[in-house]
Amino acid sequence: MRIDKFLTASGKCSRKDATRLSKKGAVTVNGRVVKDLSIHIDPLSDTVTLNGEAVIYEQYTYIMMNKPEGYVSSTDDAGPTVIDLLSDELKRKNLFPCGRLDKYTTGLIILTNNGKLAHRLLSPKHHAKKVYSFSLLSPLSEVDRLKLEEGVDIGDGEKGKYITLPCTITMTGEKDGEITLVEGKYHQIKRMAESVGNKIVRLERISFAGIPLDASLARGEYRPLTSDERALITCGCEDL
Ligand code: URA
Repeated sequence: MRIDKFLTASGKCSRKDATRLSKKGAVTVNGRVVKDLSIHIDPLSDTVTLNGEAVIYEQYTYIMMNKPEGYVSSTDDAGPTVIDLLSDELKRKNLFPCGRLDKYTTGLIILTNNGKLAHRLLSPKHHAKKVYSFSLLSPLSEVDRLKLEEGVDIGDGEKGKYITLPCTITMTGEKDGEITLVEGKYHQIKRMAESVGNKIVRLERISFAGIPLDASLARGEYRPLTSDERALITCGCEDL
């Protein structure tokens, strides 16, 4: 890998800054100052420093964020996106959200630059579990709870009909509860509630693919996944 690409991928600086800093002698490879950043290095065995600090190679980055209300979970929409909340260093890593949460949904979202993994986790075949805490406008009857658990028709545009896969709903109050889904259709929970004449007034994702939302993260805060959390989604293999 070229040194300038390595430095940019690490998020430590932009390509332009890498060139500027290398001219000042701020970049070393295995202890030697390097000014030509087109030179190739082995990111796993060569030691690169920038301004005296070792630059650690990380093939992929995985971030857990507690999404606040009002942010869009995409990379390029107009209006504030979850990417706007990241540091400049992370913005340079080309992260994208692994799946979408609606603008007014809060809670756990995972950001990564491992496209293959994101694709696999989101594929309907993978059946990654997503747990949401919700509040409804009106109490949910036991009959409607069972209907929703079995599967309801939430419509599917031109095809006209889509029956949701079985899910689990645990009520914690007459209007509040938790729902576990293994799929992620557009506005799914909102449309499920509407199918029984109800309305979602609060929705928060509290777990994704076995990873619970870190309760110490305030809305808008984020942190890297721990190695145990990474293992849960990569199953020990990051290059799928
Ligand atoms: N279902 C919804 O309706 N909205 C979300 O953000 C996630 C699931």
